[in-house]
Amino acid sequence: MQKTLSTAIIGGGATGLFLATRLFATHGSVAVFERGNRVGRKLSATGNGQGNISNLAVEEAEYFSVAQGGNDLARSIITRYPYCKLKAHMEKLGVLLLSDDRGRVYPTGRQASAITDALRFAVEQKGIPVYLNTQVTKLEKQGDLFRITANTEDGEREYLAKTVVLCTGGKASKNFGTDGTAYALAQGFGHTLTPLYPSLVQLKTETKKIKTLKGIRVSPARVTATWQERGVQKSHTVDGDILFTDYGVSGDAIFRLSAFFTHAISTGVKLSIHFLPEFTAETIEQTLRKKRAILPNLPFEELLGGIVNNQVGRAVIKSVGKEDLHAIANAVCAFELEVLGTLGFDYAQVTKGGIPAREVTSGLQSKFVDGLYLAGEILDIDGQCGGFNLQWAFSSSACIAEELNGKAMKERGQV
Ligand SMILES: Cc1cc2nc3c(=O)[nH]c(=O)nc-3n(C[C@H](O)[C@H](O)[C@H](O)COP(=O)(O)OP(=O)(O)OC[C@H]3O[C@@H](n4cnc5c(N)ncnc54)[C@H](O)[C@@H]3O)c2cc1C
Repeated sequence: MQKTLSTAIIGGGATGLFLATRLFATHGSVAVFERGNRVGRKLSATGNGQGNISNLAVEEAEYFSVAQGGNDLARSIITRYPYCKLKAHMEKLGVLLLSDDRGRVYPTGRQASAITDALRFAVEQKGIPVYLNTQVTKLEKQGDLFRITANTEDGEREYLAKTVVLCTGGKASKNFGTDGTAYALAQGFGHTLTPLYPSLVQLKTETKKIKTLKGIRVSPARVTATWQERGVQKSHTVDGDILFTDYGVSGDAIFRLSAFFTHAISTGVKLSIHFLPEFTAETIEQTLRKKRAILPNLPFEELLGGIVNNQVGRAVIKSVGKEDLHAIANAVCAFELEVLGTLGFDYAQVTKGGIPAREVTSGLQSKFVDGLYLAGEILDIDGQCGGFNLQWAFSSSACIAEELNGKAMKERGQV
């Protein structure tokens, strides 16, 4: 048994590392427990390795949750620790940030690993130990202290801590150490778990209509999803790349769109693809009529050649099934596909669902046990694609740090 920690941070991902850089830490008072052999493995892979760590629109953006209340909690935490504070903190750690034309914020060197390194070095500099290959398997409260049981390379070890912060992430991309087993650590104290869904993920769709399109990328397309939620018809539209695959659709537009509806797939989601977002159905129909008049011998299935990708054109004409130029022009602007599922958690970037917002205080402390805090993706809060999830990870951990630092100062009589 080691000496008692003031704070045990479980999980050395984006949330846990950031928290460690924000906490007042006297030697040996704080430690990070990470089940993998490196910290920040997922963080280093974010933004296609470029590290899209926030978004200029984060303060207005909507966050999602499966149970009610997630967006309100996310808004209040992000207002307390907005992007400008993240930027200032990263600059203190020697990292400069820059945004692109979609407001996505990256380190200027465009390397996600630079963010991990900056956080890792800051943690090291503060003398905070990071226990790698240490998977916390049990958390119990004994009196005022938490007893932490972990599997380590040297067998099972136990630690004591006054405060525990669960930064163990969700269930998406388990190759980064997040297989969903860590939810049980919170459930042991009576916390519940909403249903979980993969988000920011490829979609399985009906394949008959698109089986000849495998490998074709359309850029830019306009994709609209429609679904039902609590009896209300909802829709969302995104412009971007779409890639046809043997199971359905992938690409930037699909990833971004998936954040809005993966929880509703079992009740029916439809995609409508506009292959030529710069043109109206009327313009396309007029062009088709002229082409038909000039080239009456052109095989009908080739009529969309020169207007959209040849294969796409043939698939659109086949889906209409008759020589109706009006219907074909409309189908170019609204090619419908039914969503049947997602590619699953292993391929998803984010988990939709988690520990419900109603089970934590506005300072992210458990309402069921004193001294237990929850931050980042473990909570039932997920964001859109574009840096919103990492900003949530950073803001939630910064707010917990503020609370714990305040408590520590009170205990030392400094306030
Ligand atoms: C490929 C990919 C790209 C992404 N790109 C972006 C992007 O560009 N922008 C963006 O905003 N978001 C992005 N995300 C999402 C973002 O990375 C996550 O939302 C964020 O990392 C969540 O932070 P977290 O610290 O809560 O969880 P994680 O980063 O998942 O960290 C959790 C850590 O806890 C550890 N752990 C789990 N259980 C235990 C245990 N029992 N004991 C000890 N340790 C444990 C895990 O090994 C892991 O290191 C991406 C995700 C993926 C997979």
